[in-house]
Amino acid sequence: MYDLLIKGGRVIDPLQNLDDTLDVAIIGDKIAAITEDIPRQQSQKVIDTRGKIVTPGIIDLHCHVAGSLITMSVDPDTAGVKQGVTTVVDAGSTGEAIFNGFPRYVIPSSRTRVFCFLHISSQGHSVRPELRDWQEINLDATIATIEAHRDVIKGVKIRLLGNIVASSGVEVVDMVKKTAKKLGLPIMVHIGDYYEKISPTLTQEFLPLMERGDILTHVFTAKRGSILRPDGTILPELREAMERGVVLDIAHGRRNLSYDVVRKCMDQGISPTTLSSDLTAMSLSHPVYGMTVTMTKFLALGFSIRQVIEMSTANPARAIGEEKRIGSLKPEMEADVSILEFLPGKWKLEDAEQQTIEIDRLIAPSVTVKAGQVIPAEPVAKPQPIN
Ligand SMILES: [Zn+2]
Repeated sequence: MYDLLIKGGRVIDPLQNLDDTLDVAIIGDKIAAITEDIPRQQSQKVIDTRGKIVTPGIIDLHCHVAGSLITMSVDPDTAGVKQGVTTVVDAGSTGEAIFNGFPRYVIPSSRTRVFCFLHISSQGHSVRPELRDWQEINLDATIATIEAHRDVIKGVKIRLLGNIVASSGVEVVDMVKKTAKKLGLPIMVHIGDYYEKISPTLTQEFLPLMERGDILTHVFTAKRGSILRPDGTILPELREAMERGVVLDIAHGRRNLSYDVVRKCMDQGISPTTLSSDLTAMSLSHPVYGMTVTMTKFLALGFSIRQVIEMSTANPARAIGEEKRIGSLKPEMEADVSILEFLPGKWKLEDAEQQTIEIDRLIAPSVTVKAGQVIPAEPVAKPQPIN
């Protein structure tokens, strides 16, 4: 007997190469079976998903979910299960001095699965811009915090803006990289300096330091530090990084997604590895909303539904080293499932540069299943249609 049967939906699971009408059966918190026509009588509970899309639980690789620890944050469930997302990765809202609030307060009160990147700056985003001087970095304490929380911390974050980065440039990235490497973790590097203080050539200079599994976040930013040269061509260092297996993460946010940059990159054969929202309290109601709206934008920009789902499930799972547990609907994996639907209508969706695209279908969350628990999707904010 199954506990839950997700019946009759269009199941898209890129890792298993599936795009078909299938049923997904769950026992406890694990996927038990995925096949055609499982009888209703074999399950305690059935969710009818005809006309809907059933995918592995969506993972947001870059958002700010420190809840009440940091004012700019949202709580994990706002970015997570309330909008069809089963796993959220906090991208460095906290550094070693304040990280303890996550396991103590934020994670226990969330239904969404939560992982973190630890900011190299001790106070994380409670100081902005961070890294005003070297006293904001404590490598020993950073290493000790990571060692004590290996189950939650998946890498080290640095943003390429602020005083130290402006004065020391690639040296500070090198230091972060060496520290993370010793711990066997990737670095996540934010490009897009909206303060316009860093050297315009810094991205070219630090990209050769990045190795397989390191994450370049805000890859389609139009701000200083962009992967495009002034003539619109891609930095050769970016192409080389991509070939080495560096993760290209989009991290939409209020400031760092340009449709124009996306189109120029697509024309030159560059695709992102992962979609992510960079959701904060400031972008929740506009222009970001969250993952499904970000996925809708990339669908409208020309990526296929399969690609968009792969960039939001299997690829981010691999980026945090959790691909054996989440990111697919294979039997034995965690029973994290996103049930989505296409809403017809007309919307104008903005990037971070006040450019809009008009769309006629919106990917909307319907039901979230996290570790076998059924949670109705009730987004806190969603884009309003136009007439
Ligand atoms: Zn961010």
